[in-house]
Amino acid sequence: MPPAHGRGGGPGGHYMTDEELKSAPKITPALIKRVFSYLKPYWKQLILVLLCIIMSSVAGILPSILTGKIIDEGLIGRSMKLLIFYIAASFGVTLMASLIGVAESYINTWIAQHITYDMRNMMYRHLQRMSQRFYTSNNQGDIITRMTSDIDGVESVITNTFKSILSNSITLIFALVAMFQKNWILAILGIIVIPLFVIPTRSAGKTRWTLTNEAQQCNDEVNGILNETLSVSGQLLVKLFGKENEEYERYKSVNSKMIGLNIKERMAGRWFFMVLNTVTNIGPMLLYLVGGVLIMKYDSSLTVGDITVLVALLGKTYMPVNSLLNIQVDWMRAMALFSRIFDYYDMEVEIKEPKDPKIPEHITGEVEFRHVDFSYDPDRQILKDVSFKLESNKSMAIVGPSGSGKSTIINLIPRLYDVCAGSVMFDGIDVREMDLAKLRSSVGVVSQETYLFNGTIRDNLRYANPSATEEEMIEACKKANIYDFIQAQEKGLDTMVGNRGLKLSGGEKQRISIARVLLKDPKLLIFDEATSALDSISESKIQEAIDPIIKERTSILIAHRLSTILAADKIYVLKDGQIVESGQHKDLVRAGGVYTELYETQFKHSDMPPINPDDHGMAPFPSDEY
Ligand code: ATP
Repeated sequence: MPPAHGRGGGPGGHYMTDEELKSAPKITPALIKRVFSYLKPYWKQLILVLLCIIMSSVAGILPSILTGKIIDEGLIGRSMKLLIFYIAASFGVTLMASLIGVAESYINTWIAQHITYDMRNMMYRHLQRMSQRFYTSNNQGDIITRMTSDIDGVESVITNTFKSILSNSITLIFALVAMFQKNWILAILGIIVIPLFVIPTRSAGKTRWTLTNEAQQCNDEVNGILNETLSVSGQLLVKLFGKENEEYERYKSVNSKMIGLNIKERMAGRWFFMVLNTVTNIGPMLLYLVGGVLIMKYDSSLTVGDITVLVALLGKTYMPVNSLLNIQVDWMRAMALFSRIFDYYDMEVEIKEPKDPKIPEHITGEVEFRHVDFSYDPDRQILKDVSFKLESNKSMAIVGPSGSGKSTIINLIPRLYDVCAGSVMFDGIDVREMDLAKLRSSVGVVSQETYLFNGTIRDNLRYANPSATEEEMIEACKKANIYDFIQAQEKGLDTMVGNRGLKLSGGEKQRISIARVLLKDPKLLIFDEATSALDSISESKIQEAIDPIIKERTSILIAHRLSTILAADKIYVLKDGQIVESGQHKDLVRAGGVYTELYETQFKHSDMPPINPDDHGMAPFPSDEY
């Protein structure tokens, strides 16, 4: 959808696209009331703006009326004194109108900025409370657009649309009243002439608008290609698949289409102004003709000055009439904009804060799943009757085929999603009844896909704990087995990690994220082991880091490698969203069930020896005897 006040907004060029017409909102009194509720806190400033608009509209008309006086009393009346007086008055009024205009713009911009500031903050807060489901099912681009262009559009609605309705209506009314006061015959003639101006300019405007729209779409296409192919991963893809020439041809062809459209658009603009110039001339000429006839043939009391005033006033009506004819479209667009924003505001917050949040006395990280059912979409159940208990300071490993629901289980603990049936207990309290901030600060997750933001390693570490000291950071990095790497960097902790940490390897990123979670110092640590292949050195470094950490606290490991599985106190085997087996490695591997199969197909070849095999009562290198 084109922006509400995009390139299509040339003079006389406001038309709605088919898409806009289809998605036009129903303008109800409730919607209007809601829109105006945002203006309400600024009513005092709004009254000031209204006064400024009235004053500058009147002051804008006055010089036209004074022109009549200059001609009749100054020039024809041959009075130097009056001539200078009226010229000075006209100049003074124009200056005043401009000054009031400046003041009005300032107050208007101030109001618009404050309203959008309020709306943006409100939207950001609201979006923060939206669930993971919202973010996984909505396009990120849409969310950003709502935050940026849509709310920017509101500013333009207030500074342009609302203001335009007021100032144009007032100018038009004053101009018409003044015209009728001078001479009703010429005033009526003026009104008849207006459509002569309006109809051709609108039709030329529409052609121009259609072309501008096409050019805009073409421009979007060009931007799309650039975004796709000139990004880091896009370039990589192009290079690796040798698609340079193909992409160049694609770019060239859209680019040449763009040139054609641009030329047409410019020329349409040129035609538009030609029509505009010609028709704006017809009105005054008609007034001079009929005015002349009235003076010469009918000996009317009309003066030369009066006719000049009427011509000048007629000129003042063109713009407001044209703008007011466009107002309906602007108004519809403004309402569409507001209703899109309101749709977001009205989205229900799925993960609600409990009314009476509970905080456990001693947080130990103990977790219990009681007959948990869960589904992302109503038609597909992911977890079925999952029950387990993880006591404090113990660790458990969850293993299972890909897609069996392992990550889903951990999503339920910090309430990224809520269960459909059953309950998740954290330290004996249902997570839905627990203070959400406390719950989330007690759970630390090292996820498969490590997210580092563009900044230094230090910035990324401090995100977990802004008050962490240098020593604490170094300590965490040592524990996470990343300190040697950091020390080897020229800038140490101040090394930039690049866009999403792209300057680091997968293993380095994961170890930094382990250090980050250690600084958070959660009671429950969840480690979602990367399935993607890391080299064995990276793997062993991560393993060495994670092993002592999980001994110190309650932890859940989503495990893909034998060494990680063996580090846990108990193993749960998940299949199709159900826990099918649980116990110790040595028992499970003999049972001949899902675990045995997983062991044979996956774990057996993940050749990391356990760090402390004695804890598990087995040999360092598992052999085929199981
Ligand atoms: P893996 O080992 O490959 O990471 P997993 O056992 O962790 O797999 P989950 O990520 O928990 O599996 O996914 C379980 C199922 O839920 C999958 O079939 C997946 O397609 C589905 N799923 C996961 N996330 C969503 C989501 N946000 N919306 C809808 N379905 C989802």
